[in-house]
Amino acid sequence: MVGQQRFRLSEVPLLNRDHVKIRDPDKVEHMLNELVAGGTEKLQVVTDFDYTITKQRLTNGEKILTSFGMFNECRSLPVSVLEESKKLFHKYRPIEIDPHMPMEDKVRYMIEWWTKTGDLLKGFPLPQEEIAEVAKRFKDGLRDGTPQMFYDLDQLGVPCLVFSAGLGDSVISVLRQPNVMYPNVKVISNFLQYNPDGTLNGLQDKMIHTFNKNETALKGTDYYDLVHDRDHVIVMGDSLGDAGMADGIPSSSHVLKIGFLFDHPEQNLPRYMDTFDIVLIDDQTMDVPRTIVEMVKNKSHK
Ligand SMILES: [Mg+2]
Repeated sequence: MVGQQRFRLSEVPLLNRDHVKIRDPDKVEHMLNELVAGGTEKLQVVTDFDYTITKQRLTNGEKILTSFGMFNECRSLPVSVLEESKKLFHKYRPIEIDPHMPMEDKVRYMIEWWTKTGDLLKGFPLPQEEIAEVAKRFKDGLRDGTPQMFYDLDQLGVPCLVFSAGLGDSVISVLRQPNVMYPNVKVISNFLQYNPDGTLNGLQDKMIHTFNKNETALKGTDYYDLVHDRDHVIVMGDSLGDAGMADGIPSSSHVLKIGFLFDHPEQNLPRYMDTFDIVLIDDQTMDVPRTIVEMVKNKSHK
């Protein structure tokens, strides 16, 4: 094959299936060709965790826990703390998803929510093993193909950032189950802080909430140095806000955004299609991201 040969979207069967929605096929075709031409050295992956790395539904109908939901399953968590965090959820969650409230107001409320959550998590013991136990029970919650995707990215030396406004301790525990916390994987999230006596002391700074989830949170870290010149980015998420996760990357020239849509697809599809380049409706696999990585890999190894 000639090095310059471009491929057409119509040649990628997986991207032509019914549940794959693309608003601007020409743009996606162009971007895929750029990603492929750039090869794995230019590539990085930035992904959300809850309902992105994990599935949005299980075939047996069981509910999938979020990273904070897993934490709430821990035996040592006092009932009063659990009840209080439920109250916070009922107060702040509607604000988080309110389509009308101005962003700066929302941000203020999110900081309030996360701060109050951190304040709740103080003064009682919570062994990390308990989180690991819940994560072990949770192993079917990973999207099909997730472990293989992490494996492939590691083999190709492509950095992968898992970005979560949830609880990082749970995220890491889940990723440890199939042994995919490879050196190329970085988790940016909220982590528990412990007192020397083993009791909890809230959450560590710096707070990652729904609306500051972008790579500005990386500034000054080793990871930033590792990825700042990889300007080809695959972004994956299930919430509209996830599409902005690569916003802090300087000179990110090609950002391919993949959105997993599950809830009320008929109502949400237009906004998802405006926000993400590729929208996958009720797709509980990593097939599409893996196919794209595979295309980039094949080119790089020619
Ligand atoms: Mg999510």
